[in-house]
Amino acid sequence: MSIEVRHITKTFGDFTALKEVSLEIPTGELIALLGPSGSGKTTLLRVIAGLEVADPGSGAILFDGEDATSRSSRDRQVGFVFQHYALFRHMTIFENVAFGLRVRPRKVRPSESEIRERVSALLKLVQLDWLAARYPSQLSGGQRQRVALARALAVEPKVLLLDEPFGSLDAKVRKELRRWLRRLHDELHVTSVFVTHDQEEALEVADRVVVMNEGRVEQVGTPDQVYHHPANPFVYNFLGNVNLFNGRVEGGKVHIGDMAMELPEQMRPDAETAVVYVRPHLLEIDHQPTNTNHFRARVEHINPAGPLVKVELISEWGDPVQVEISQERYRDLRLKKDAEVFVTPKEKKIFVEKYSI
Ligand code: ADP
Ligand code: MG
Repeated sequence: MSIEVRHITKTFGDFTALKEVSLEIPTGELIALLGPSGSGKTTLLRVIAGLEVADPGSGAILFDGEDATSRSSRDRQVGFVFQHYALFRHMTIFENVAFGLRVRPRKVRPSESEIRERVSALLKLVQLDWLAARYPSQLSGGQRQRVALARALAVEPKVLLLDEPFGSLDAKVRKELRRWLRRLHDELHVTSVFVTHDQEEALEVADRVVVMNEGRVEQVGTPDQVYHHPANPFVYNFLGNVNLFNGRVEGGKVHIGDMAMELPEQMRPDAETAVVYVRPHLLEIDHQPTNTNHFRARVEHINPAGPLVKVELISEWGDPVQVEISQERYRDLRLKKDAEVFVTPKEKKIFVEKYSI
């Protein structure tokens, strides 16, 4: 089922949690709502689910092109998985998954044998069939969230909504579960909206990512688009570590120290200042100057643990700079604390944030 969010505004008292949010989610897509805490992700999810009503007259929610704004949550046929999905403690895993089917009115309730068949199939799908007779307290956190997902899927929802489902699990289990969710989605193709504040999780799991900030959508795109072609400084900052350099604009170029970089074409010609953004792995360190576009810096700290070596430097103008280099490069450079080095940007993104006219 496709979902369309059209100009939705949601206020709580005098606080606006969603401001004119519009979004189209095609059938079968797995989309992530990504943003810092308080950016409106849960509110948007709850409005889609019908658990929260948007401001009167503010817009509409369409399911498969039909206005569902006034439909109840039940009629929207959504499945929900929360961060703390309280399973019924006194019921076995099997009965937890069967619950949504057993409480259906008699006319639409499947027979006992159909229920058994469907629950067994779902438990196999989430690879927990061997735990069917256990109780929730006998399961790990990751296993419990998989049960929660099986339970949400049992009623064959048209839409699956997941609100930070792995938020309370430790890092290693989170990583396993996000890959597992991706594979599950590839099998089932249920239209799914996945809320997270973890950019790595969103980039790895989703077909497309919606970056939210203060109740607005900043950008919608594939993981590749939002990471490599961020629409604005917020998105660039939020999707990973980044260094900011303040520059002057003169003669069509941005000047930072002795460096001069071309201004992007779409930039206003009357801008006087620009901010250049460079990710840590797109800065290169050398002992000698390589070309004209470099600046001087002093090595402050080196952390060689991990796939990349993280080097913290202080630039010639006194700002901290983060650089990531390969282990091989680190060995070749024989880098030491307090070394005076030259730093060269390989690629950079320039945004004009301020104008002084
Ligand atoms: P997120 O899920 O991105 O962390 P939420 O959608 O939960 O953000 O909340 C967005 C903002 O709306 C927050 O500032 C929150 O305090 C506010 N908010 C959410 N629900 C309510 C509510 N029921 N009453 C008042 N304010 C709320
Ligand atoms: Mg939330």
